[in-house]
Amino acid sequence: MTERIVGIKTPIKLEYTYTPGLASSRYLNGVARGKLIGQRCPECSKVYVPARGCCPACGVTLGEEVEVAQSGTITTFCVVNLPFYQAIKPPYVCASILLDGADMALFHLIQEVPAEEVRMGMRVEAVWVEPGELGPTMESIRYFRPTGEPDADYDSYKEHL
Ligand SMILES: [Zn+2]
Repeated sequence: MTERIVGIKTPIKLEYTYTPGLASSRYLNGVARGKLIGQRCPECSKVYVPARGCCPACGVTLGEEVEVAQSGTITTFCVVNLPFYQAIKPPYVCASILLDGADMALFHLIQEVPAEEVRMGMRVEAVWVEPGELGPTMESIRYFRPTGEPDADYDSYKEHL
């Protein structure tokens, strides 16, 4: 009698091409120059980084390009304990970071600090790849690291959680 097969393990790979569109292209072209470029809503004045093309609150096309700071505040975060990304040994932290001058947090990796020390309100800054390695990809920012500044007051980011 043969044994019944109930499952198999197989490697899976997915390759895809991403077409960013105008708003994301503007953002990614900034990243390729080592800059974080957002756009301001002409009605509510919120700065979206990355730019999204239109303001979801006002329903209007975003306008003025705005370069925001390369430092910001961790608003929320998660500790990753599963080794699904082979380049980094868990536990490590991914966080929503409200860049100074932006009204929308972006999500990125936190390094150079033990996972258990990461906290809401922690001030962090971008660590970029070498200038010759910059490209239109979020991998141009290796990670964010603590600046050593005092934590931000909760009131300064509570609207961005
Ligand atoms: Zn708006």
